[in-house]
Amino acid sequence: MPLRIIEEDIKHLVYDMNLAQKVERSLSLITQAYSAYGGRIVVANSLGKDSCAVWHLAKRVSPDIRGFIVTTRFKPRETVQFMHKMVAQYPELKVFSNEEPVPDKLYETDPDRCCDILKVQPTRRAIEEMDVTCWVTGLRCTEGRTRTDFQEIEERDKGLIKLNPILIWQEREVWQYLAIHQVPVNPLYEKGYRSLGCEPCTRITNSPDERAGRWVGTGKSGGECGIHTRPLKIDYQI
Ligand code: SF4
Repeated sequence: MPLRIIEEDIKHLVYDMNLAQKVERSLSLITQAYSAYGGRIVVANSLGKDSCAVWHLAKRVSPDIRGFIVTTRFKPRETVQFMHKMVAQYPELKVFSNEEPVPDKLYETDPDRCCDILKVQPTRRAIEEMDVTCWVTGLRCTEGRTRTDFQEIEERDKGLIKLNPILIWQEREVWQYLAIHQVPVNPLYEKGYRSLGCEPCTRITNSPDERAGRWVGTGKSGGECGIHTRPLKIDYQI
């Protein structure tokens, strides 16, 4: 049976539930999605801590669940090395990128366009080529100003379900989960980063906002690359 889209205010659950309850809720969401969509459920793995937690949860539900990574020519060396390790361990993680030429320093002059070409377009291709009905993300509603209005189960693109199974987890709880299960993470966290992206667009900051180090000094500051806000079905006409 397909997942039911329910619009509800779940923000209170961020503080009302403890980690064990949230883990059960997340596993239940992924289990329901896997029962409904089988091999057409795919995890989007950004190689950040939240994706590592979701990937671990998904593997607890079924080792057969597949995933995809979208990488760009601007990813830090540490992230690329971590990606190679992940793919070696999990060959069911497919890597997508867009290698078409882009204007020099487009990330400075038009970061929205740069993200659209290098991140959104390969995500569309992943969803098309992997025949995805339900994609699973590590999005959380306490990450920053742009992430407060999402639901655990959404259908932003008709025919494409989006599952955000750790939407109500706090940053601290992600780290607790990863520590409890000894899940390896990107070594950039050791340097003080809290949210990871492309090298020219990611800084270490002391802001309370977890995503404040993204696109600093641009109109996109603390914002989104577009995969959570732009249409993803490949038949969408830009
Ligand atoms: S994060 Fe920066 S470098 Fe990476 S795709 Fe977006 S604008 Fe380009």
